[in-house]
Amino acid sequence: MKTFDARIEAWKKKAEALVRPRIDGIDEIVEYNQWKVIEAFRACKVSDYHFNPSTGYAYNDRGREVLDELYARVFGAEAALVRPHFASGTHTISTALFGILRPGDELLYITGSPYDTLHKVIGKSGDGTGSLADFGIGYKEAALLENGGIDWEKVRRQISPATRVIGIQRSRGYAWRSPFTVDEIAGMTRIVKEMCPGVVVFVDNCYGEFTEKTEPTEFGVDLMAGSLIKNPGGGLAETGGYICGRKDLVELAAYRLTAPGIGAEVGAMLGTTRGIYQGLYMAPTIVGQAVKGSIFAAAMFDFAGFASSPAWNAPRTDLIQAIVFDRAEQLIAFVQGIQLAAAVDSHVVPEPWDMPGYEHPVIMAAGTFIQGGSLELSADAPIREPYIGYLQGGLTYAHVKYGVLNALQNLFDRNLL
Ligand SMILES: *Cc1c(COP(=O)(O)O)cnc(C)c1O
Repeated sequence: MKTFDARIEAWKKKAEALVRPRIDGIDEIVEYNQWKVIEAFRACKVSDYHFNPSTGYAYNDRGREVLDELYARVFGAEAALVRPHFASGTHTISTALFGILRPGDELLYITGSPYDTLHKVIGKSGDGTGSLADFGIGYKEAALLENGGIDWEKVRRQISPATRVIGIQRSRGYAWRSPFTVDEIAGMTRIVKEMCPGVVVFVDNCYGEFTEKTEPTEFGVDLMAGSLIKNPGGGLAETGGYICGRKDLVELAAYRLTAPGIGAEVGAMLGTTRGIYQGLYMAPTIVGQAVKGSIFAAAMFDFAGFASSPAWNAPRTDLIQAIVFDRAEQLIAFVQGIQLAAAVDSHVVPEPWDMPGYEHPVIMAAGTFIQGGSLELSADAPIREPYIGYLQGGLTYAHVKYGVLNALQNLFDRNLL
């Protein structure tokens, strides 16, 4: 068995004992969600013929149709659109927004600046890229308060008759702020609906699925989107995304994904169906493994003297563990140390690069079976001050532990600890 510096081994022992009650709490959420998912499979009468690959237009692909029903049930939504044709989370969210916004409408994000890759989807007027702005769709955002809460004064001032969609991002993304729990999102939705009853509440649910017992669409959220190479794909879905929520809005998103009038009626699954089904079945357990790993990481980096968020004993509503380093070299050594622990591509040394859609060089440890699949153990960081590394995923708790141990050892070996 691999051994680490004595100090790191001692922290490991201490951390394991410290987080034990938290781990038991996660197991309880896993059990709850496992049965929720199985109940949905039972209600949908899922059979093995649903897993058959479809080709061409794939009209009447029962596997695809039942998959939509299954997701709708699990997420407490009227309808869902679950497709391998969504190339990424950003594509999925973009499809949802373009599906419901029209020229002259405004999108207002109330949780501060959204995830980096959405900035180009929002775009700038006249940018010629086909962004929302390019189509005459306005954008506003209300920065969060100092304490991380919603600035309701600012939201109230920014709402106008043109406001059509209110955007909420559950997870922190690449920002030093707390994620919003399902309970908090339910509260925001109530307030927004009072302020402006006709507005559509949209939630970017990336990294949130199955970390709690409920999902935002159970509490009045109108439309929600996420990525299948994150939580709900369970590490088995090979690609794709999901949109769920109000039936009329999901239909509009489907018109945008394929074509008006065609919507969800076509789309060959090309053999991806079984992985998406089985991934959903596995998702509660795998998400639990990743969340346990994040809690362990929080304790370990705390012992090592790095500020980390959320704290090991704080409630969880997403997978992400943010860790603040003092210097860029430490951040890079951390990410490279995570890569050293990978089963795939451990011999590769990640370096910062200009990733499409991101505004700063980004370094990514992604030694994953699914390229960029971040329910798998991964770490990334934009190289900018403050030097925050974002750690997430892990298909097994044991693997996350090794990731953290290797990362700390890598810092130690380079005299950065
Ligand atoms: C990952 C993520 C996205 C975008 O997903 P990609 O697959 O990277 O395009 C959007 N929002 C949040 C909060 C995310 O975590």
